Amino acid sequence: MTSLHENTAVTPLPVFEVRNPGTGEVVGSYPIQSAADAVAAVERARDAFRWWSGLGYAGRAERLSRFAGVIARRLRQLGAVIHDETGKPYSDAALEAALVLDHLKWAGRNAPKVLGRRRARVGPLTFNHAASIEYRPFGVVGVIGPWNYPVFTPLGSIVYALAAGNAVVFKPSEYSPGVGRWLVDMFAEVVPEQPVFQLLTGDASTGAALCRAGVDKVAFTGSTATAKKVMAVCAESLTPMVAECGGKDALLVDADADIDVAVDAALWAGMANAGQSCIATERVYVHRQVYDEFVDKLTGRARRLRAGIDDAAKIGPITMPKQVGVILHHLEDAVARGGRVLTGGVAEISGQVVQPTVLVDVPEDALAVTEETFGPTLTVAPVADMDEAVERANAVRYGLSAVVYSKARGGELADRLRAGMVSVNAVFTIPQIPSLPFGGVGDSGFGRIHGPDGLREFTYAHAVARQRFAPLMALTTFDRTAKADAAMAKIMTILHGRRHLG
Ligand code: NAD
Repeated sequence: MTSLHENTAVTPLPVFEVRNPGTGEVVGSYPIQSAADAVAAVERARDAFRWWSGLGYAGRAERLSRFAGVIARRLRQLGAVIHDETGKPYSDAALEAALVLDHLKWAGRNAPKVLGRRRARVGPLTFNHAASIEYRPFGVVGVIGPWNYPVFTPLGSIVYALAAGNAVVFKPSEYSPGVGRWLVDMFAEVVPEQPVFQLLTGDASTGAALCRAGVDKVAFTGSTATAKKVMAVCAESLTPMVAECGGKDALLVDADADIDVAVDAALWAGMANAGQSCIATERVYVHRQVYDEFVDKLTGRARRLRAGIDDAAKIGPITMPKQVGVILHHLEDAVARGGRVLTGGVAEISGQVVQPTVLVDVPEDALAVTEETFGPTLTVAPVADMDEAVERANAVRYGLSAVVYSKARGGELADRLRAGMVSVNAVFTIPQIPSLPFGGVGDSGFGRIHGPDGLREFTYAHAVARQRFAPLMALTTFDRTAKADAAMAKIMTILHGRRHLG
């Protein structure tokens, strides 16, 4: 019963506004949800998980396929929400959304084959057993997403977690909550029965609250610095996490590469989405035989590419105001250390619009070479041979992806690069191949989304060994005999003992 003196007024949650980074116009206002909200969402998700996992692989695949249908039919609508919140051009926004469709189908279709119970081989001491393994969903997965690809990136975790049978609570970036809202609402159209996929809006505090709200796994995508904080929070409750972090990707150009094609690729991989891609090329190492030609052509093309906030601009503004400061700092540091700006540069930064920037003569220990810049910038350096190119490419703490342009040695050079993903004679292809795992090494994080690894990432292995008939030798008993010990030693010698001979 409510007492007369009890304050029954509900305190409204603090809100945050989202602005179009190009125009500054407010495009949405969302609550900063609290720890109690996070706990309540996870509790609701717990029930939803039981229902969703009970649908089975076929039932879930069918819903995911219908979700793909809704996105495909409303690409323009979704593209507009992405554009409003991130500033990226409409066509790039629609392309980003379109790229997720294959993943929705692939994850749904392949989950039973990758995760379903299958027989496992037994050894000579356990030949009387039938062994099997299946991969079971954790339960509730908390997904914390970035703003740079607000559809493709978080869905890389969400889709695979859902296909595996988990429920998801999604905390999108505070720069792109409207995209998160759109996705959750559209999913609810195809899964109206239960809150299988929920939204939690807010900032860092909400993200940390989600990690503490009883989720069974956290899928984090964002910067390396934030991943460390998220990991520390997850450590409190031994909650596992997958960390998809930043990168400092290199593109290698061999002497035999098709230079026009490599220039086009470097330009796209470095400047698309205003360089705000985790797998953006930020460093280019070019064989000295073709260096001058490459730099001339790249600079010419980069000068003709224009960033702006109008519909004709191929590159939008920088989404986060504070990132402009990072870009500026990297450019100033590069120039102070002897780097030369061939196009773009500090002088051509206006508000949040940064023009495509090509830098040369930048020392390898400059920030523009060692740290993620996350802007439309490329450092280009000549190398004496491809051994040097590999050595320099591998010299950073990041290891997300890399690119090789070479007619004869593409595969060989790819093998030598320390990165989770390497593409040869093409850029940005790996995220488009649903069967390939996406993720990095070192400061780029750990764990994988996409592909079979991405499905297993959201499951735990459940192994069963069933004894079919009594063993010939009883080993796991205190009644084990000396005869059994001797027989076991003999068998082991026959099986393994001869390996050192010869
Ligand atoms: P960010 O690290 O600032 O934020 C990412 C998310 O974490 C946001 O939702 C934010 O609210 C949340 N967050 C911040 N502090 C938190 C805390 N203490 N506890 C819990 N959550 C917290 O990153 P960003 O600026 O949104 O994204 C850009 C970064 O993401 C870049 O470094 C980019 O390379 C990386 N990224 C990586 C991939 C990949 O797949 N490897 C993909 C896209 C972006």
